[in-house]
Amino acid sequence: MSRLITDDHSLLPFKLSGAARSAAAIYPFKTTEYYLGLVRHLNMSDPVFLQLAPDGREIEDNHSPDPFCEEEKTKAPRLIHRYPQRAVFLANNSCASHCRHCMRKRRWTEAPSVASVEEVKEAARYCQEKQIEDIIISGGDPFLLPGAYLDEIVARFREVPSLKIIRIGTRLPVVDPERVKRNMLNKLRKRGPLYLMLHYNHPQEWSPLGDELLDDMRRMGFLLMNQSVLLKGVNDSEETLYHLFMGLLQRGVKPYYLHQCDLVRGVTHFWVELTRSVDLLRNLQGHISGLALPYLAIDLPGGLGKVLLGPSHRLQKSGSRYKLRTFRGKDVFYGKEE
Ligand SMILES: *Cc1c(COP(=O)(O)O)cnc(C)c1O
Ligand code: SF4
Repeated sequence: MSRLITDDHSLLPFKLSGAARSAAAIYPFKTTEYYLGLVRHLNMSDPVFLQLAPDGREIEDNHSPDPFCEEEKTKAPRLIHRYPQRAVFLANNSCASHCRHCMRKRRWTEAPSVASVEEVKEAARYCQEKQIEDIIISGGDPFLLPGAYLDEIVARFREVPSLKIIRIGTRLPVVDPERVKRNMLNKLRKRGPLYLMLHYNHPQEWSPLGDELLDDMRRMGFLLMNQSVLLKGVNDSEETLYHLFMGLLQRGVKPYYLHQCDLVRGVTHFWVELTRSVDLLRNLQGHISGLALPYLAIDLPGGLGKVLLGPSHRLQKSGSRYKLRTFRGKDVFYGKEE
């Protein structure tokens, strides 16, 4: 197992600037030896380094820390219910590596917590009562839970008659594949079909160990999907996205969403201008397997939900803002605060 590297900054193979140390004081640094091993250049030109290294720019913006009103949308313990028929269950709150672009980074300093059996039961009851059909087990990273416990959580949700689809969101296969235990997977595979929502952002995140795990998971019958985040300086080029999406597809992973980086405090330096995001998809379309092309997903502030854009979408702009229509038919103006 790859050792965890946390706030003992003396262990780092690189020096943090004063500004980066101030950022790390608010959003703690944490990663794995494995993920650090994927870094090729210890500076901000490296797509892996950018995702793990504290950056002074994180404490320079004044966007809301919770524009999605997750706190308010929490209906049953740890359950976020914003859309008809589907909900997110936050099984724990720890991750193996802190992604600097994380939209829940405001919660990194909370004490580690894991859903209790009672909370799982209550969430399952809520799903039944509201006739939820699709549950996303997220966190934190649920793959950090003891395998038997994650299996028990999945089993509880499987017992809910209304629930047809179970997804598990995890980044562990990307940041520490050795830590994904085959005996956990062997338990979970019996609860299939299970959709595993992975989080690869750059081809530099491939490795022989990671590929072996993907191969095993695919052969074990998991349905593998990927949700990338479009990140300025990391993957905002046609060439990088081409290799990322084709590389995923080749490994049996369907590129599901390309997320527009959220306008959440501490991550907006990664935000890509929306016209550029759509241009990226447009420039790939036709040149790449249709299977490899994800939707662009924009999570609107105010808890209004995601808007999905395809490569042919024509953006409407008003000043510096984009006019987007929610799935409920409401027009909203979206963009970075000046
Ligand atoms: C993204 C999200 C979902 C799932 O959305 P899909 O478009 O079905 O993948 C469900 N609930 C919340 C709160 C979400 O943010
Ligand atoms: S794995 Fe997900 S929840 Fe964890 S730090 Fe990364 S983006 Fe945030």
